[in-house]
Amino acid sequence: MKIERVETFVLRTPLGADTFYSSQAQFPERTSLLVRLTTTDGVVGWGEGGQYGPPEPVQSCIDDVLAGRLVAAPDASPGVIWDLLYSTTRDYGQKGPYIEAISAIDIALWDIMGKTLNTSVSTLIGGRFRKSVKAYGTGGYYSSAGFVPGRDLDELSDTVSGYAADGFGMLKIKVGLLDVRDDARRVIAVREALGDDFTLLADANHAYNSSSAIAMGRVLEDHGFQFFEEPVPPEDRQGYARVRSRLDIPIAGGEAEYTRYGFRDFIAGGCVDIIQPDICVCGGISEVQRIVALASTHNLRTIPHVWGSGIALAAALQVCAALPLAPYTHVPRPLQNEPVVEFDRTRNPLRDDLLTSEFELVDGYVRVPAGAGLGVDVDPAVVERYRVGGSDIRSTAA
Ligand SMILES: [Mg+2]
Repeated sequence: MKIERVETFVLRTPLGADTFYSSQAQFPERTSLLVRLTTTDGVVGWGEGGQYGPPEPVQSCIDDVLAGRLVAAPDASPGVIWDLLYSTTRDYGQKGPYIEAISAIDIALWDIMGKTLNTSVSTLIGGRFRKSVKAYGTGGYYSSAGFVPGRDLDELSDTVSGYAADGFGMLKIKVGLLDVRDDARRVIAVREALGDDFTLLADANHAYNSSSAIAMGRVLEDHGFQFFEEPVPPEDRQGYARVRSRLDIPIAGGEAEYTRYGFRDFIAGGCVDIIQPDICVCGGISEVQRIVALASTHNLRTIPHVWGSGIALAAALQVCAALPLAPYTHVPRPLQNEPVVEFDRTRNPLRDDLLTSEFELVDGYVRVPAGAGLGVDVDPAVVERYRVGGSDIRSTAA
C-alpha cells in the first residue's frame, strides 16, 4: 500500500462552565490532533496524536517533516513506516511531538491495513481475547483550584454517585491538587458515597515528592483503593521505586512515557506494577505491542491510558481486545489480570460526537468495534464544526 494524501485536523472546543482542574492544570477546552491518510487505492485511515499538550506542534511534525517521507515511501505498511519515521527523526525526536506524530500516522496506517484486508485491527495484531472490555470511569476532577469542604465534598459525592448510577463498577478519581489532608477528605467522601465493594483507583498526575506520595498512598490503602497512578514525576525513577517499595497499593504510570526505550528504563527502574502507555503518545499501535511484550517479561499488567477523541478510544479498545491476561488464569479477573479500558467521563464533544456510532457502557463493559480497521467512522460535519486548523498534503505523483 502507498499513501498519496496526508490531511491534518486541529480540533478545539471550549468547555465553558464545565472547565475542570487536575493537580497540574486548568482544562478550559478539549483539543485533538487527527490525521487522515488516503492510499493510492482510495482507502482512508484515521489516527490521533498527543494528549494534554497543544495539538499544533504535533501537526507541524506531520505537515513539515513526516508527511513528505510518508508519501514518498513505496511501502506504507505500519511496521515499515514506523521504522522509517523513527529512524530518520531519532537525532531530534525520541520523545514528545515527533513520537506523538508518528503515533497518529501509525494508528491511521493500521486502520487502513484493516480496511484493506477487511478485518479489525485487534485481529491483525494477534486476535481478540475479548469482544468487550470492562471500563473504568475517569472523573472526580476538581471543579475549582480551591477547596470549600462542605460544597466540594457534596459535589464530588454527587458526581461519583452519578457514575455508579450510569453503570460503572470501577472509578478513578483525582488527587494531588490539594494538600494531602484535604485530598484525604475527598478520598473518604468517595468511599463513603460508593460503599466498600466499589472498585476505586486514584491518579495524582505526578503531584508529589516521594514522601508526600507515601503519605497519600497510605490514605488510599486505608480506603481500599486498587491502584495509585503517577504518584511522582515520570523522570523521578528513584522516587517511583521508593514509593513502590514503601506501599502495598499497586503503583501505575507511563502515560507520559514514550516508546519501548522509555518503558525499558521505567520498568527496569522498578517503578510500577501497572504500565499505562497512551497509544496516541507512546508510538502508536505498532510500538505499544513492543511495550506490552517488554512488560510481559516482567509479569506487569498493561492498562492503556486513554484521553483523546473517539479515535483514541477506538484504538485503545482494539489494543485492549488483543492483550493477553497478565498472568493467565482459568477465569479472568478484570483489573487483577484482565485489561480494563479507561473511559474518561469529563465533557468532551470530540469523544462523544465525532464518530457516527457511540461507545456505550453495557453492564460495565464497552464493546470493541467489530468492523474493519479501527471499526469506527468519523462524522465529517463534526470535524468541520470543531476544526480550527490543519493542512492537506498530496503526493506530487498523485
Ligand atoms: Mg493519569
